[in-house]
Amino acid sequence: MKKIRLIVLSFMSIFMLNACLVQENLEGIAITNVTVIDAMNGLRESQTVVFEKDRIIAIETTNDKPLEVLKVIDGTGKFLIPGLWDMHVHLTYDDAFTDDMPSLFLAYGITSVRDTGGLIDKLLPVIDKMREIDALAPRVFFSGPLLDGEFVVYDGGLVPEIGTQNATIEMANEKIEMLKNSGVDFIKIYEMVSPAVFSALTDAAEKYQLPIAAHIPLSMTASIAGPEVDSMEHLRNVELDCAVNSSQLHEERLSRLNSHTQGAGLTLRSSLHQLQRLPAIQNYDEQRCNQTLDNLRATIQVPTLRLNSFSMRPSYERNDWSEVLERVPEGAQEKWIAATEDWFEKEKDQDWDGSEFAKWSIQLVGNMHRRGVPIGAGTDTPIGMALPGYSLHTELELLVEAGLSPIEALYSATIRPTEFFSLEDTMGTIEVGKVADLVLLEANPLVDISNTRRINSVISKGVVINPEELL
Ligand SMILES: [Zn+2]
Repeated sequence: MKKIRLIVLSFMSIFMLNACLVQENLEGIAITNVTVIDAMNGLRESQTVVFEKDRIIAIETTNDKPLEVLKVIDGTGKFLIPGLWDMHVHLTYDDAFTDDMPSLFLAYGITSVRDTGGLIDKLLPVIDKMREIDALAPRVFFSGPLLDGEFVVYDGGLVPEIGTQNATIEMANEKIEMLKNSGVDFIKIYEMVSPAVFSALTDAAEKYQLPIAAHIPLSMTASIAGPEVDSMEHLRNVELDCAVNSSQLHEERLSRLNSHTQGAGLTLRSSLHQLQRLPAIQNYDEQRCNQTLDNLRATIQVPTLRLNSFSMRPSYERNDWSEVLERVPEGAQEKWIAATEDWFEKEKDQDWDGSEFAKWSIQLVGNMHRRGVPIGAGTDTPIGMALPGYSLHTELELLVEAGLSPIEALYSATIRPTEFFSLEDTMGTIEVGKVADLVLLEANPLVDISNTRRINSVISKGVVINPEELL
């Protein structure tokens, strides 16, 4: 009898102990009664989304069942979207920004970034820090330097050094092997490479299974180089292919490129842009351009409209620009304030050369979208007065202005980047098994895309963040 009681007691104590452990081990966080929106599944009302560490573990219609979770966030009246990406950032372009960029991104709901150019030695410590366990930083994917040709545009002269030389096929092959060994997630091909070096770079990238981002090299055309890469940046040099006299422009470019034997890549590139960009836009030929766009149906376009169309929609004139200036890191703040004052004093009234290109860029993105060319959201931050994080929301607004619907704009900043890296199975939507990168909004972004700015909280790798604490 005594023995039986003991056994029962020990069973009970084990049972109680287990019950206790279960309570103490509760780890999940639930967002209840929230409207879930993602670009694959559309809008789902009254959902309870549970995530544990970095995984979404349950999604169901909100009901009265008690939740066995550590914490409950009431999502009533709020909207939950996947964490946003900025597909075009430069973490090491301006030292004044580098340290502040990760927290600025997170504060604005950017939970993943693609660094599209920086020297490996400078970039690696930054990447390592961002990837530390428990680091408060977005997920980061990086390419290393701009892979330029014999002449390098970003050579550290008048502009920061983020480019490297690939004068020969051998140099190109060695470079890609070195980059692969340094752990890059993709490569970035730049404007001055020759067709032969371009081929060497794309072949090597294929060998090492590295996705390719690129500016269309000036020695090539968008129709030929575009389909060989996975993403194209800034719509760069597409106008040349869309002109009725595109072959004449191409010949002219080749002869100037071939006769250039000395001098900075930056000067050569700028002179070619200046010589051909506006004339090409003025010679726009719809039929030719449609053909070009049809050749780009498998190449993600990251138009950085925020940058291309800056003269049309200058950030200086945004209602909240003074708040933005307060958030600019100390080392850059003075410059930004001076640039703003300058704008209102003189530049505003100037007839900007850029406005024609600005309008053309927005129109082209609309045409691309209508013809089925995939569009991705990126900003080039911190270049061109782009505050990290903040500027991605401006990009989303411009994509909608160009003709994307709000949910398509969300697609460009959530699912599209996962397609570039073949990560669709783990990121980009709000589904069980996907990573816990989420943004809780105060208002519906499908009604007005600007509502992506109305952030209540950000979840990055399962950690709930109050943006106010980061700004
Ligand atoms: Zn860039």
